[in-house]
Amino acid sequence: MDRTDVIIIGGGPVGLFGATMARLHGLSTTVIEALPELGGQLYALYPEKPIYDVAGFYGITGKDLALRLIEQAEHFGPDFVVGQSVQSIAPLGDDEDGWQVTTNSATYQSRVVLITVGIGAFVPRKLPAQGAERYEDRGVYYLMPPLDHFHGRRVLVVGGGDTALDWTLAIAPRSRHLTLIHRRSQFRGQEESIRLIQESPTISVKTPYELVRIEGDEQVQRVIVKEVTSGSEEVWEMDDVVGGLGFLPSLGPVKTWGLHLSGNTITVDPGSMATNLPGIYAVGDVAQYPGKVKLIATGFGEVGIVIAQIRNYIDPSKHGLPHSTNLKTIPR
Ligand SMILES: Cc1cc2nc3c(=O)[nH]c(=O)nc-3n(C[C@H](O)[C@H](O)[C@H](O)COP(=O)(O)OP(=O)(O)OC[C@H]3O[C@@H](n4cnc5c(N)ncnc54)[C@H](O)[C@@H]3O)c2cc1C
Repeated sequence: MDRTDVIIIGGGPVGLFGATMARLHGLSTTVIEALPELGGQLYALYPEKPIYDVAGFYGITGKDLALRLIEQAEHFGPDFVVGQSVQSIAPLGDDEDGWQVTTNSATYQSRVVLITVGIGAFVPRKLPAQGAERYEDRGVYYLMPPLDHFHGRRVLVVGGGDTALDWTLAIAPRSRHLTLIHRRSQFRGQEESIRLIQESPTISVKTPYELVRIEGDEQVQRVIVKEVTSGSEEVWEMDDVVGGLGFLPSLGPVKTWGLHLSGNTITVDPGSMATNLPGIYAVGDVAQYPGKVKLIATGFGEVGIVIAQIRNYIDPSKHGLPHSTNLKTIPR
């Protein structure tokens, strides 16, 4: 079996930039991503939301940043495996230095493993309403479908935190009408989002309201909601219901790999991004050390540190990282 230098587990922004840097510095690289699409949280959770704190861009959307990172990485030619979730990692035999990485459908080998699984699998909190399961993907959504889907439709968003507020602001300009309900009177999200929603003439905000039941034939047609204070129920005609109750952190199988964990994160040495296992490194949201800030910019910085370390681990004669402008050969 071919053994690559580096297997990167997770094709989010940090894994993608990791692939670019690894290839740029001459390491053969395979990226394994559980979802069918690369891009991580940018693509799956907030594709239409503008990001203002990534260097070099003013207000680039999650989707556009993901596409740029994919384009940059593809240019340098790593192997991409999508739709496979890594289940286990195990050391190769004594005379073969490296790791065996097993997904739900295949096995791969590498000298080094770089873990960039972020917040793990995206497990949405499901709507605790009758009919929610029956109509999932038939009018009930937890991950963002293409926004054009909502064009001209009546949409209910449920929730009081940032997920619900972000979805409300993204969907409202497309929808015929959008109603946001929350079971408490106060929202918990960013003040700016709350202000924009309250000032919008096209968004109805109803609190404290709870979703009781979803009804329809093949697709969602109406919802039954309850005004929490009085307990009285109302029937609203609706085409789509969006569950914006947030996501449960779920590292899943990563927790069984023998790594030192701190909650849903992996403890690393911030000087090297090394974990407690030899040849296993972690960067991005999943990597934890004192002072860590979970930002894309932080993850990109950690990639520089870790690629220098991995290069030195594989070839101890190599130290630091040369400037890309000084590289004599650029892959592809
Ligand atoms: C609504 C929202 C707004 C945000 N806004 C900003 C912002 O303005 N600025 C900013 O800097 N940050 C922002 N963030 C945070 C930013 O998105 C994260 O810091 C960033 O996505 C972390 O990147 P990552 O590559 O480490 O992890 P992720 O983006 O979480 O990607 C990890 C990838 O690993 C995959 N994976 C997980 N487990 C496995 C497995 N076992 N096998 C294979 N693949 C696996 C996942 O499917 C996922 O694609 C925001 C986050 C959210 C939710």
